[in-house]
Amino acid sequence: MENKQKKIILTGDRPTGRLHLGHYVGSLKRRVELQNSGEFDEIYILIADDQALTDNADNPQKIRDNIINVVLDYLSVGIDPAKSTICVQSALPALHGLTFYYMNLVTTARLSRNPTVKAEIQMRGFADEGLPAGFFAYPVSQAADITAFDATLVPVGEDQLPMIEQTREIVEKFNKIYGETLVLPKAMIPENETQRRLPGVDGKAKMSKSLGNCIYLSDDPKTVASQVKKKMFTDPTHLRIEDPGHTEGNVVFTYLDALCTDDHFKEYLPEYSCLEELKAHYRRGGLGDGTCKKFLINVLEETLSPIRAERAKWAADIDSVYDILLAGTAKAVEKTNATLSRVRKAMAIDYFDDRRIVKEWENILKN
Ligand code: ATP
Ligand code: MG
Repeated sequence: MENKQKKIILTGDRPTGRLHLGHYVGSLKRRVELQNSGEFDEIYILIADDQALTDNADNPQKIRDNIINVVLDYLSVGIDPAKSTICVQSALPALHGLTFYYMNLVTTARLSRNPTVKAEIQMRGFADEGLPAGFFAYPVSQAADITAFDATLVPVGEDQLPMIEQTREIVEKFNKIYGETLVLPKAMIPENETQRRLPGVDGKAKMSKSLGNCIYLSDDPKTVASQVKKKMFTDPTHLRIEDPGHTEGNVVFTYLDALCTDDHFKEYLPEYSCLEELKAHYRRGGLGDGTCKKFLINVLEETLSPIRAERAKWAADIDSVYDILLAGTAKAVEKTNATLSRVRKAMAIDYFDDRRIVKEWENILKN
């Protein structure tokens, strides 16, 4: 197969809102590192507007509006359009074709077992209201996205593991029935456990656009500080500074686990050399929440202020952003059409690619 040896990345995001810190630690930061490693032949980043419509069919304007937010977030964290192709899902008709064929390779029972989709159905109230078939089946369309680009690697947060598993099953089944055609992808999740599924500022569920518990990459410094000061509950048993405190399940420490390095201590809290020392002091007692929160705000600002500055630059030139998206999408149309052709050929439904079938039909009629 033509692309078998190539190293190809596909990732994407739903344009349901601006991107947040969970996206950054779970996937975006890794994407930029992989992009700049020079180890990959092709990198595609998909703005999954069709997927976003599966649970926002009544609000297409929201999706339309957020495409620009997501692209700006990509560019501001360091996604370089010269190295990574940014494209829009709904403009890639091959993805619809692939989804349609893959649907036949998946049972409804299998789709019902997907733990991420199960949780999302609950969260969105679809259990009571009725479940859109498109939402139920979105892991199949995600398999189409991944395979259409011949992706070998998919860097994602932990919630996406069931999707990659589903994709691998579809690839294996397709190749078994129709012959070696699709590339088997692998997921890549962060080594740091907290980064795999960053909780919201409330410390409870996953930080998610749909839950309104986010620190957005484009939030201004005042908003970020107020999220930390007002929304983050620390340890309810740590009433006075001298009381011993708990760091497990304490959202301030969870965020520090995900974000801070020893260099941050040198810069902002030189009394400690590393997070373990800070945690030990908190557990012993004698360390106030205010000090920890102030440190976290500094760490957040060090991460977010360059992103904010870069975003402002791109936001002043939306014409160029549009051109980046247009060029990326055109490239992705070609790439995904080639895969669909390969798939149609493997499935023996490529009737009109050449006139070969005329001979075949003549032979059948002769016999
Ligand atoms: P929605 O609520 O619309 O589903 P979302 O916030 O879950 O939005 P997605 O667009 O579904 O964001 O996810 C995009 C990528 O970001 C995926 O790879 C996902 O695993 C990762 N991701 C999203 N939220 C988090 C999080 N809190 N921690 C780590 N990774 C995350
Ligand atoms: Mg999601």
